Amino acid sequence: MNCRSCKNRIMPFFSLGRMPLVNSFLKKKKDFLSEKKFDLTVGFCPKCYLVQLTKTVPPEEMFRNYVYFSSTSSLFLKHCEDVAEELVKKLNLSSKSLVLEIASNDGAQLKAFKKRGVRVLGVDPAKNIAKVANKEGIETVPDFFNYKFAKQLKDKKGIMADLIYGANVLAHVPKITDFVKGVKEVLAKGGTAVFELPYIRGLFENKFDTIYHEHVFYYSLVALRNLFHSAGLDIYDVKMTPMQGGSLMIFASHPDNFSVSQNVEKLVKKELKDGFDKLATYKKINNNVSKLKTELLFLLKKIKTGGKRIAAYGAAAKGTVLMNYFGIAPYLDFISDKSVAKQGLYTPGTHLMVYPPEEVYKRKPDYLLILPWNIADEIVKQYGDYKKAGGKFIVPVPRVKVI
Ligand SMILES: [Zn+2]
Repeated sequence: MNCRSCKNRIMPFFSLGRMPLVNSFLKKKKDFLSEKKFDLTVGFCPKCYLVQLTKTVPPEEMFRNYVYFSSTSSLFLKHCEDVAEELVKKLNLSSKSLVLEIASNDGAQLKAFKKRGVRVLGVDPAKNIAKVANKEGIETVPDFFNYKFAKQLKDKKGIMADLIYGANVLAHVPKITDFVKGVKEVLAKGGTAVFELPYIRGLFENKFDTIYHEHVFYYSLVALRNLFHSAGLDIYDVKMTPMQGGSLMIFASHPDNFSVSQNVEKLVKKELKDGFDKLATYKKINNNVSKLKTELLFLLKKIKTGGKRIAAYGAAAKGTVLMNYFGIAPYLDFISDKSVAKQGLYTPGTHLMVYPPEEVYKRKPDYLLILPWNIADEIVKQYGDYKKAGGKFIVPVPRVKVI
Protein backbone atom coordinates (compact mmCIF):
# COMPACT_ATOMS: atom_id res chain seq x y z
CA MET A 1 0.00 0.00 0.00
CA ASN A 2 1.30 3.44 -0.94
CA CYS A 3 0.72 6.81 0.73
CA ARG A 4 -2.36 8.59 -0.59
CA SER A 5 -0.47 11.87 -0.58
CA CYS A 6 3.18 11.28 -1.54
CA LYS A 7 3.00 7.70 -2.95
CA ASN A 8 5.75 6.43 -0.64
CA ARG A 9 5.27 2.94 0.91
CA ILE A 10 3.34 3.02 4.20
CA MET A 11 4.09 0.89 7.28
CA PRO A 12 1.14 -0.69 9.15
CA PHE A 13 1.32 -0.29 12.97
CA PHE A 14 -2.11 -1.04 14.54
CA SER A 15 -4.97 -3.29 13.44
CA LEU A 16 -8.51 -3.71 14.72
CA GLY A 17 -9.10 -6.67 12.42
CA ARG A 18 -12.33 -6.94 10.43
CA MET A 19 -14.99 -4.49 11.59
CA PRO A 20 -18.48 -3.50 10.42
CA LEU A 21 -19.08 0.06 9.19
CA VAL A 22 -19.89 2.17 12.26
CA ASN A 23 -22.98 3.77 10.77
CA SER A 24 -24.43 0.68 9.10
CA PHE A 25 -27.21 0.01 11.58
CA LEU A 26 -29.31 -3.05 10.78
CA LYS A 27 -33.07 -2.99 10.33
CA LYS A 28 -33.92 -6.67 10.78
CA LYS A 29 -32.48 -9.74 12.50
CA LYS A 30 -32.17 -11.49 9.16
CA ASP A 31 -29.72 -8.76 8.05
CA PHE A 32 -27.19 -10.02 10.66
CA LEU A 33 -26.05 -12.88 8.41
CA SER A 34 -25.29 -10.70 5.40
CA GLU A 35 -23.58 -7.93 7.41
CA LYS A 36 -20.41 -6.73 5.70
CA LYS A 37 -17.10 -6.38 7.55
CA PHE A 38 -13.93 -4.73 6.31
CA ASP A 39 -10.29 -4.77 7.41
CA LEU A 40 -9.33 -1.87 9.69
CA THR A 41 -5.56 -1.34 9.86
CA VAL A 42 -3.63 1.93 10.32
CA GLY A 43 -0.25 2.69 8.74
CA PHE A 44 2.37 5.46 8.80
CA CYS A 45 4.13 7.13 5.88
CA PRO A 46 7.79 7.67 6.82
CA LYS A 47 8.22 10.29 4.09
CA CYS A 48 5.34 12.78 4.62
CA TYR A 49 4.28 11.48 8.11
CA LEU A 50 0.67 10.97 7.06
CA VAL A 51 -1.11 8.32 9.17
CA GLN A 52 -3.78 6.51 7.18
CA LEU A 53 -5.79 3.32 6.79
CA THR A 54 -4.05 0.68 4.71
CA LYS A 55 -7.34 -0.22 2.97
CA THR A 56 -10.43 1.87 2.37
CA VAL A 57 -14.10 1.17 1.79
CA PRO A 58 -15.70 3.00 -1.19
CA PRO A 59 -17.26 6.27 0.09
CA GLU A 60 -20.47 5.31 -1.70
CA GLU A 61 -20.88 2.45 0.82
CA MET A 62 -20.58 4.86 3.75
CA PHE A 63 -21.91 8.33 3.10
CA ARG A 64 -24.96 8.12 0.85
CA ASN A 65 -27.38 7.16 3.60
CA TYR A 66 -25.85 8.57 6.68
CA VAL A 67 -27.75 8.39 9.99
CA TYR A 68 -25.69 10.98 11.83
CA PHE A 69 -27.54 14.27 12.22
CA SER A 70 -25.16 16.78 13.74
CA SER A 71 -27.92 18.78 15.42
CA THR A 72 -28.55 16.02 17.99
CA SER A 73 -25.83 17.16 20.42
CA SER A 74 -26.38 20.44 22.29
CA LEU A 75 -22.63 20.68 22.89
CA PHE A 76 -22.16 20.56 19.13
CA LEU A 77 -24.73 23.32 18.54
CA LYS A 78 -22.97 25.54 21.04
CA HIS A 79 -19.70 24.84 19.22
CA CYS A 80 -21.31 25.89 15.90
CA GLU A 81 -22.25 29.25 17.41
CA ASP A 82 -18.74 29.75 18.83
CA VAL A 83 -17.08 28.86 15.52
CA ALA A 84 -19.30 31.25 13.53
CA GLU A 85 -18.75 34.06 16.03
CA GLU A 86 -14.99 33.60 16.01
CA LEU A 87 -14.53 33.20 12.24
CA VAL A 88 -16.79 36.11 11.28
CA LYS A 89 -14.58 38.33 13.45
CA LYS A 90 -11.18 36.84 12.67
CA LEU A 91 -11.75 36.83 8.90
CA ASN A 92 -13.86 40.02 8.70
CA LEU A 93 -16.80 38.29 7.01
CA SER A 94 -19.69 40.49 5.86
CA SER A 95 -22.96 40.21 3.94
CA LYS A 96 -20.82 40.16 0.77
CA SER A 97 -18.82 37.14 1.92
CA LEU A 98 -19.64 33.55 1.04
CA VAL A 99 -19.04 30.60 3.32
CA LEU A 100 -18.85 27.25 1.58
CA GLU A 101 -19.13 24.37 4.00
CA ILE A 102 -17.96 20.96 2.87
CA ALA A 103 -19.86 18.04 4.46
CA SER A 104 -22.37 20.48 5.91
CA ASN A 105 -24.64 17.70 7.24
CA ASP A 106 -28.03 19.10 8.30
CA GLY A 107 -26.80 22.70 8.05
CA ALA A 108 -26.30 23.35 11.77
CA GLN A 109 -23.02 25.22 11.29
CA LEU A 110 -24.21 27.19 8.27
CA LYS A 111 -27.30 28.34 10.16
CA ALA A 112 -24.98 29.94 12.70
CA PHE A 113 -23.20 31.85 9.89
CA LYS A 114 -26.46 32.81 8.19
CA LYS A 115 -27.74 34.23 11.48
CA ARG A 116 -24.74 36.58 11.42
CA GLY A 117 -25.63 37.87 7.95
CA VAL A 118 -23.09 35.91 5.88
CA ARG A 119 -24.09 34.17 2.63
CA VAL A 120 -23.87 30.37 2.87
CA LEU A 121 -23.70 27.29 0.64
CA GLY A 122 -23.40 23.67 1.74
CA VAL A 123 -22.26 20.50 0.01
CA ASP A 124 -22.91 17.07 1.46
CA PRO A 125 -23.03 13.64 -0.21
CA ALA A 126 -25.79 12.26 2.04
CA LYS A 127 -28.91 12.90 -0.04
CA ASN A 128 -31.30 12.28 2.85
CA ILE A 129 -29.54 14.82 5.06
CA ALA A 130 -29.01 17.44 2.32
CA LYS A 131 -32.78 17.32 1.80
CA VAL A 132 -33.37 18.18 5.47
CA ALA A 133 -30.95 21.13 5.21
CA ASN A 134 -32.57 22.48 2.02
CA LYS A 135 -35.99 22.25 3.60
CA GLU A 136 -34.74 24.39 6.46
CA GLY A 137 -33.48 27.09 4.13
CA ILE A 138 -29.79 26.15 3.95
CA GLU A 139 -28.94 25.64 0.28
CA THR A 140 -27.08 22.33 0.10
CA VAL A 141 -25.78 20.49 -2.98
CA PRO A 142 -26.09 16.71 -2.50
CA ASP A 143 -22.65 15.73 -3.79
CA PHE A 144 -19.07 14.80 -2.94
CA PHE A 145 -16.64 17.70 -2.91
CA ASN A 146 -13.58 17.16 -5.12
CA TYR A 147 -11.51 19.01 -7.72
CA LYS A 148 -14.04 18.44 -10.49
CA PHE A 149 -16.91 19.69 -8.32
CA ALA A 150 -14.90 22.78 -7.28
CA LYS A 151 -13.99 23.59 -10.87
CA GLN A 152 -17.64 23.40 -11.95
CA LEU A 153 -18.69 25.60 -9.06
CA LYS A 154 -16.16 28.18 -10.15
CA ASP A 155 -16.49 27.95 -13.94
CA LYS A 156 -20.25 27.42 -14.32
CA LYS A 157 -21.65 29.31 -11.35
CA GLY A 158 -18.85 31.81 -10.78
CA ILE A 159 -18.62 30.80 -7.13
CA MET A 160 -15.50 31.57 -5.10
CA ALA A 161 -15.60 31.23 -1.32
CA ASP A 162 -14.17 33.72 1.17
CA LEU A 163 -14.31 30.99 3.77
CA ILE A 164 -14.22 27.29 3.04
CA TYR A 165 -15.14 25.44 6.19
CA GLY A 166 -15.07 21.73 6.92
CA ALA A 167 -15.41 19.96 10.25
CA ASN A 168 -14.64 16.26 10.36
CA VAL A 169 -14.31 15.89 6.64
CA LEU A 170 -10.57 16.03 5.93
CA ALA A 171 -10.15 12.68 7.66
CA HIS A 172 -12.88 11.11 5.54
CA VAL A 173 -11.73 11.62 1.96
CA PRO A 174 -9.49 8.89 0.45
CA LYS A 175 -8.54 10.99 -2.61
CA ILE A 176 -7.16 13.70 -0.37
CA THR A 177 -4.78 15.41 -2.81
CA ASP A 178 -7.64 15.89 -5.30
CA PHE A 179 -9.78 17.28 -2.47
CA VAL A 180 -7.19 19.83 -1.33
CA LYS A 181 -6.62 20.84 -4.97
CA GLY A 182 -10.39 21.49 -5.13
CA VAL A 183 -10.16 23.69 -2.04
CA LYS A 184 -7.44 25.76 -3.69
CA GLU A 185 -9.52 26.04 -6.88
CA VAL A 186 -12.61 27.54 -5.25
CA LEU A 187 -10.91 29.62 -2.53
CA ALA A 188 -11.08 33.38 -3.19
CA LYS A 189 -7.76 35.20 -3.45
CA GLY A 190 -7.69 36.58 0.08
CA GLY A 191 -9.85 33.77 1.48
CA THR A 192 -9.18 31.22 4.17
CA ALA A 193 -9.92 27.51 4.34
CA VAL A 194 -10.61 26.30 7.87
CA PHE A 195 -10.71 22.63 8.75
CA GLU A 196 -11.39 21.00 12.06
CA LEU A 197 -10.31 17.40 12.52
CA PRO A 198 -9.61 14.96 15.35
CA TYR A 199 -5.98 15.41 16.41
CA ILE A 200 -3.73 12.39 16.19
CA ARG A 201 -2.40 12.98 19.70
CA GLY A 202 -5.62 11.34 20.90
CA LEU A 203 -4.36 7.99 19.63
CA PHE A 204 -1.56 8.16 22.20
CA GLU A 205 -4.12 8.92 24.92
CA ASN A 206 -6.10 5.70 24.40
CA LYS A 207 -8.65 7.38 22.13
CA PHE A 208 -8.28 4.52 19.65
CA ASP A 209 -12.05 4.37 19.07
CA THR A 210 -11.76 7.32 16.69
CA ILE A 211 -10.27 4.75 14.29
CA TYR A 212 -12.97 3.55 11.90
CA HIS A 213 -13.40 3.09 8.17
CA GLU A 214 -14.83 6.58 7.64
CA HIS A 215 -11.64 8.07 9.05
CA VAL A 216 -9.04 7.36 6.41
CA PHE A 217 -6.53 9.84 7.92
CA TYR A 218 -5.27 10.67 11.44
CA TYR A 219 -3.56 14.01 11.22
CA SER A 220 -0.58 15.61 12.85
CA LEU A 221 0.26 19.18 11.94
CA VAL A 222 3.56 18.09 10.36
CA ALA A 223 1.63 15.82 7.98
CA LEU A 224 -1.06 18.44 7.26
CA ARG A 225 1.53 21.02 6.42
CA ASN A 226 3.12 18.71 3.85
CA LEU A 227 -0.26 17.81 2.39
CA PHE A 228 -1.46 21.42 1.93
CA HIS A 229 1.91 22.55 0.68
CA SER A 230 1.84 19.91 -2.06
CA ALA A 231 -1.47 21.42 -3.30
CA GLY A 232 -0.11 24.99 -3.24
CA LEU A 233 -1.73 26.13 0.02
CA ASP A 234 -0.06 27.26 3.24
CA ILE A 235 -1.24 26.63 6.79
CA TYR A 236 -0.88 29.99 8.53
CA ASP A 237 -2.54 29.31 11.87
CA VAL A 238 -3.64 26.44 14.09
CA LYS A 239 -5.52 26.00 17.36
CA MET A 240 -6.79 23.19 19.55
CA THR A 241 -10.53 22.67 20.11
CA PRO A 242 -12.29 20.28 22.53
CA MET A 243 -14.37 18.62 19.78
CA GLN A 244 -14.20 14.82 19.40
CA GLY A 245 -12.12 14.68 22.55
CA GLY A 246 -9.35 16.88 21.10
CA SER A 247 -9.30 18.40 17.63
CA LEU A 248 -7.10 20.70 15.57
CA MET A 249 -8.48 23.67 13.71
CA ILE A 250 -6.21 24.74 10.85
CA PHE A 251 -6.28 27.92 8.78
CA ALA A 252 -4.95 27.73 5.23
CA SER A 253 -4.63 30.26 2.43
CA HIS A 254 -2.97 30.87 -0.90
CA PRO A 255 0.77 31.44 -0.31
CA ASP A 256 1.96 34.70 1.27
CA ASN A 257 -1.50 36.11 2.05
CA PHE A 258 -1.06 36.00 5.80
CA SER A 259 1.98 35.87 8.03
CA VAL A 260 2.46 32.45 9.62
CA SER A 261 1.46 32.45 13.28
CA GLN A 262 3.81 31.36 16.07
CA ASN A 263 1.23 28.67 16.92
CA VAL A 264 2.24 26.75 13.80
CA GLU A 265 5.97 26.67 14.52
CA LYS A 266 5.41 25.87 18.20
CA LEU A 267 3.18 22.89 17.51
CA VAL A 268 5.42 21.51 14.76
CA LYS A 269 8.36 21.68 17.15
CA LYS A 270 6.40 19.87 19.87
CA GLU A 271 5.28 17.15 17.47
CA LEU A 272 8.82 16.50 16.30
CA LYS A 273 10.00 16.37 19.92
CA ASP A 274 7.25 13.82 20.65
CA GLY A 275 8.28 11.66 17.70
CA PHE A 276 5.24 12.17 15.46
CA ASP A 277 7.64 11.67 12.56
CA LYS A 278 8.71 8.18 13.71
CA LEU A 279 7.09 4.77 13.28
CA ALA A 280 8.24 3.58 16.74
CA THR A 281 6.06 6.25 18.41
CA TYR A 282 2.93 4.92 16.71
CA LYS A 283 3.69 1.30 17.55
CA LYS A 284 3.24 2.10 21.25
CA ILE A 285 -0.53 2.33 20.73
CA ASN A 286 -0.82 -1.49 20.68
CA ASN A 287 0.33 -1.92 24.25
CA ASN A 288 -1.73 0.97 25.64
CA VAL A 289 -4.99 -0.18 24.06
CA SER A 290 -4.53 -3.76 25.16
CA LYS A 291 -4.05 -2.55 28.77
CA LEU A 292 -7.26 -0.51 28.55
CA LYS A 293 -9.18 -3.52 27.24
CA THR A 294 -8.03 -5.71 30.15
CA GLU A 295 -9.00 -3.05 32.64
CA LEU A 296 -12.50 -2.48 31.23
CA LEU A 297 -13.30 -6.19 30.85
CA PHE A 298 -12.15 -6.82 34.42
CA LEU A 299 -14.57 -4.17 35.72
CA LEU A 300 -17.54 -5.32 33.62
CA LYS A 301 -16.98 -8.97 34.65
CA LYS A 302 -16.79 -7.98 38.30
CA ILE A 303 -20.06 -6.05 38.09
CA LYS A 304 -21.86 -8.89 36.29
CA THR A 305 -20.55 -11.51 38.73
CA GLY A 306 -21.93 -9.34 41.53
CA GLY A 307 -25.38 -9.72 39.98
CA LYS A 308 -25.68 -6.12 38.81
CA ARG A 309 -26.95 -4.95 35.45
CA ILE A 310 -25.18 -2.75 32.88
CA ALA A 311 -26.61 -0.81 29.95
CA ALA A 312 -24.79 1.36 27.42
CA TYR A 313 -25.59 4.88 26.33
CA GLY A 314 -24.72 6.35 22.93
CA ALA A 315 -24.73 4.24 19.78
CA ALA A 316 -22.19 6.61 18.23
CA ALA A 317 -19.33 5.57 15.96
CA LYS A 318 -16.86 5.40 18.86
CA GLY A 319 -19.20 3.08 20.73
CA THR A 320 -19.42 0.68 17.82
CA VAL A 321 -15.64 0.46 17.59
CA LEU A 322 -15.18 -0.03 21.32
CA MET A 323 -17.97 -2.60 21.68
CA ASN A 324 -16.75 -4.64 18.72
CA TYR A 325 -13.01 -4.48 19.39
CA PHE A 326 -13.26 -5.14 23.13
CA GLY A 327 -16.10 -7.68 22.76
CA ILE A 328 -18.19 -6.18 25.56
CA ALA A 329 -21.70 -6.58 24.13
CA PRO A 330 -22.39 -9.79 26.18
CA TYR A 331 -22.14 -7.71 29.38
CA LEU A 332 -24.76 -5.20 28.24
CA ASP A 333 -28.54 -5.53 28.72
CA PHE A 334 -29.41 -2.89 26.14
CA ILE A 335 -28.24 0.36 24.57
CA SER A 336 -30.05 3.68 24.31
CA ASP A 337 -29.47 6.74 22.15
CA LYS A 338 -31.03 10.17 21.71
CA SER A 339 -30.96 9.98 17.91
CA VAL A 340 -34.43 8.98 16.70
CA ALA A 341 -32.91 7.81 13.40
CA LYS A 342 -31.05 5.01 15.24
CA GLN A 343 -33.81 3.92 17.60
CA GLY A 344 -35.39 0.57 16.77
CA LEU A 345 -32.35 -0.46 14.71
CA TYR A 346 -29.57 -2.92 15.68
CA THR A 347 -26.00 -1.80 16.36
CA PRO A 348 -23.39 -2.81 13.72
CA GLY A 349 -21.53 -6.02 14.59
CA THR A 350 -22.86 -6.29 18.14
CA HIS A 351 -26.59 -6.39 17.23
CA LEU A 352 -28.05 -4.64 20.26
CA MET A 353 -31.41 -2.99 19.67
CA VAL A 354 -31.20 0.80 20.16
CA TYR A 355 -33.78 2.19 22.62
CA PRO A 356 -34.76 5.81 23.37
CA PRO A 357 -33.04 7.46 26.39
CA GLU A 358 -36.11 6.88 28.62
CA GLU A 359 -35.45 3.13 28.57
CA VAL A 360 -32.81 3.76 31.24
CA TYR A 361 -35.55 4.98 33.62
CA LYS A 362 -37.81 2.07 32.72
CA ARG A 363 -35.26 -0.72 33.25
CA LYS A 364 -33.05 0.99 35.83
CA PRO A 365 -29.67 -0.63 35.14
CA ASP A 366 -27.15 -0.34 38.00
CA TYR A 367 -24.47 1.00 35.66
CA LEU A 368 -24.62 3.06 32.49
CA LEU A 369 -21.57 2.71 30.25
CA ILE A 370 -21.04 6.01 28.42
CA LEU A 371 -19.66 5.15 24.99
CA PRO A 372 -19.32 8.72 23.62
CA TRP A 373 -16.86 9.54 26.44
CA ASN A 374 -16.09 12.93 24.84
CA ILE A 375 -19.55 14.18 25.88
CA ALA A 376 -19.67 12.26 29.20
CA ASP A 377 -20.41 15.42 31.24
CA GLU A 378 -23.39 16.23 29.07
CA ILE A 379 -24.76 12.68 29.43
CA VAL A 380 -24.29 12.58 33.22
CA LYS A 381 -26.22 15.85 33.42
CA GLN A 382 -28.93 14.50 31.13
CA TYR A 383 -29.40 11.53 33.49
CA GLY A 384 -29.43 13.55 36.71
CA ASP A 385 -32.50 11.71 38.05
CA TYR A 386 -30.96 8.32 37.30
CA LYS A 387 -27.87 9.36 39.28
CA LYS A 388 -29.98 10.66 42.18
CA ALA A 389 -31.74 7.29 42.32
CA GLY A 390 -28.35 5.59 42.83
CA GLY A 391 -27.40 4.88 39.21
CA LYS A 392 -23.69 4.81 38.37
CA PHE A 393 -21.79 5.70 35.20
CA ILE A 394 -18.77 4.05 33.62
CA VAL A 395 -16.56 6.14 31.33
CA PRO A 396 -14.28 3.76 29.36
CA VAL A 397 -11.82 6.18 27.65
CA PRO A 398 -9.15 7.54 28.06
CA ARG A 399 -9.05 5.78 31.48
CA VAL A 400 -11.72 3.48 32.92
CA LYS A 401 -13.59 5.56 35.47
CA VAL A 402 -16.73 4.98 37.59
CA ILE A 403 -18.80 8.04 38.50
ZN1 LIG B 1 3.35 10.11 2.34
